[in-house]
Amino acid sequence: MEHGLSDDRNPGLAARGRAMNPTVMVVEDEEAIALLLRYNLEAEGFAVEVITRGDDAELRLQEQVPDLLLLDWMLPGLSGIELCRRLRLRTETQRLPVIMLTARGEESERIRGIATGADDYVVKPFSVPELMARVKGILRRTNPETVSARLVAGDLSLDRASHRAYRNERELRLGPTEFRLLEFFMRSPGRVFSREQLLNGVWGRDIYVDERTVDVHVGRLRKAIIRGREKDPIRTVRGAGYSLDDKFLN
Ligand code: CA
Repeated sequence: MEHGLSDDRNPGLAARGRAMNPTVMVVEDEEAIALLLRYNLEAEGFAVEVITRGDDAELRLQEQVPDLLLLDWMLPGLSGIELCRRLRLRTETQRLPVIMLTARGEESERIRGIATGADDYVVKPFSVPELMARVKGILRRTNPETVSARLVAGDLSLDRASHRAYRNERELRLGPTEFRLLEFFMRSPGRVFSREQLLNGVWGRDIYVDERTVDVHVGRLRKAIIRGREKDPIRTVRGAGYSLDDKFLN
């Protein structure tokens, strides 16, 4: 239990904040292993997407980048090792944490895996608790925001455990969508998100919502966090989207 994510202990909160849970993409063609990984990762509070082919995973990763990738070595379409190599060449996925799943006894292959840019590897058959510990260890190291309960950016703070957000000491009154939107921005301050990326990340890709909906909720979020002469921390980037402003954060 010591590896549990503190913000996902309460199932009600987990359900409400579903789109905001750290995301793990599992690329694995063996159904039993994929199922085992999905079950255990979801039980730990991760949002999981399973893809069974290397080439499909490459396409999907061009649309959306998860917080971590669990990548099998031998895959139809495109091998895990080649996918990993390609991911390292793209800016968007250069630093995506990757754990390779390899078969036992492929010592030289394992070394190649690390050389190609995987952050870690796990040998099949693997121990589930050990794999979960590796997943969380890597996330803590590479992207502490995904596993910490409290996010801070400038004078904004957000507590995932209590589902409350503050500007200075003032508690913000946010609707559920505005809360998730703020959380999404606070995980990557300074990064510009397109409306489509915000839709995928905040509303989820299975829900059809018009892109103008994003503008409506960004407007509501601004209204909730700006009082009097306070600065507007959300920057509108013409032709690109929105970001939590760098200047405001300094
Ligand atoms: Ca395989």
